[in-house]
Amino acid sequence: MQILIQTKPAYKAYALNTFRNIPQMERLTESERRAIEIVGNVLPFKVNNYVIDELIDWDHYKDDPLFNLVFPNRDMLLPAHFSEMEKTLNSTNDRNVIRETAYKIRLKLNPHPAGQVELNVPEIDGVKLTGIQHKYRETLLFFPSSGQTCHSYCTFCFRWPQFVGMNEIKFAMRETELLVKYLEQHQEVTDILFTGGDPMIMKFEVFRQYIEPFLGDNKTNIQSIRIGTKSLGFWPYKFIDDEEADKFLALFERIVKSGVNLAFMAHFNHPNELKTPAVQRAIRRLRSTGIQIRTQSPLLAHINDNADTWAEMWREQVNQNCIPYYMFVARDTGAKHYFEVPLVRAWEIFRDAYQQVSGLCRTVRGPSMSATPGKVQILGVSKMDNKKVLTLRFLQGRNPDWVAKPFFAEYDETATWLNDLKPAFGDQFFYEDELERMYQTKTSEEVYAN
Ligand SMILES: *Cc1c(COP(=O)(O)O)cnc(C)c1O
Ligand code: SF4
Repeated sequence: MQILIQTKPAYKAYALNTFRNIPQMERLTESERRAIEIVGNVLPFKVNNYVIDELIDWDHYKDDPLFNLVFPNRDMLLPAHFSEMEKTLNSTNDRNVIRETAYKIRLKLNPHPAGQVELNVPEIDGVKLTGIQHKYRETLLFFPSSGQTCHSYCTFCFRWPQFVGMNEIKFAMRETELLVKYLEQHQEVTDILFTGGDPMIMKFEVFRQYIEPFLGDNKTNIQSIRIGTKSLGFWPYKFIDDEEADKFLALFERIVKSGVNLAFMAHFNHPNELKTPAVQRAIRRLRSTGIQIRTQSPLLAHINDNADTWAEMWREQVNQNCIPYYMFVARDTGAKHYFEVPLVRAWEIFRDAYQQVSGLCRTVRGPSMSATPGKVQILGVSKMDNKKVLTLRFLQGRNPDWVAKPFFAEYDETATWLNDLKPAFGDQFFYEDELERMYQTKTSEEVYAN
């Protein structure tokens, strides 16, 4: 009998200056490789050997969803931006000139959508806590400074400015001290969501520092710790054979035993990410510690814009004991024009997928836009007063009172974001006056004080 020993590959990542060494790059045309360089100088690019060797089907790379998920192509930039960067790269090797061109283009790509900078950064004793976003009453987003990268980069990433050195909008904070102080003063916060980048990029000892304050006695009201991560999609070995895998699992078990709910908010974009032996083992091991795995993804043209793909993905997730959570509308940033799906079409895909699956998959909510006033779900197309309308509702609102009230927009097949929509009745949406007042007061502190 032959015994197969599966050996774990060592983590190996490629960036712009090394990607031509990836053996599979031989399959691309020179103009495709050049396009990776041109687009990759504007949007972040990084890919690792797990994605290359276990996720991408290289025989059909042009249509492969995971290929499009990590490898840039020329259509991801608008033609004018593409040729601007192409000309620059053809005419100079001067890093400063190239950087300047890239910076100029990036500024036109809406690098901080949805009021992230203006409205969500709280203060404590007059100090801005730039590593924190507190937008919804119960849940705080925390961007640990050591988690501001990923195992690979998604071409549609909405956090991309953090990876390309646009420091003024890099949300990062070194000390957990201020975080804990803020949480002690904000007992309304029950959930802390560690995000990034990917917090699961961290070394164990660093990660432990961030978690430790919430274990055992503390004066915060934290009841749930969530980890927003794409590590199961990009590097599942983190939880099976990596050197520190067992330490992470032991810590997760300790958190659960301490009575705190621990949830992985796992980012999966396509069912293919759920099919490798490595990811299946990783999910089984994680689940055995008692943590929950909830799943979420944006809806993306060229990657997952059809109903069967979503139905398959949700079924596969439920079969592996994960809980479908959110389907997002792709944000209005970066390569949005390439990935965007109109809202009406997004709802049709959601509905067609939702109808195909059992109730256990229907824990998923969407399609949802993380817009300035809150998370807005498209409930569907209805007819009122003989008029076709889009019915919407808040799943989360800057003001919790906004949540779960249906409201209506004029039917528009081309709209791709909330600000493309017009109210179906009256001249503004019900929350607009109040949102405007929040902009004037600026801090979320005052918003919650109301
Ligand atoms: C989505 C989101 C959360 C979490 O919201 P839930 O509906 O509780 O998952 C928290 N903060 C921000 C800024 C978000 O976008
Ligand atoms: S995993 Fe998330 S943060 Fe990282 S590149 Fe992808 S979308 Fe961006």
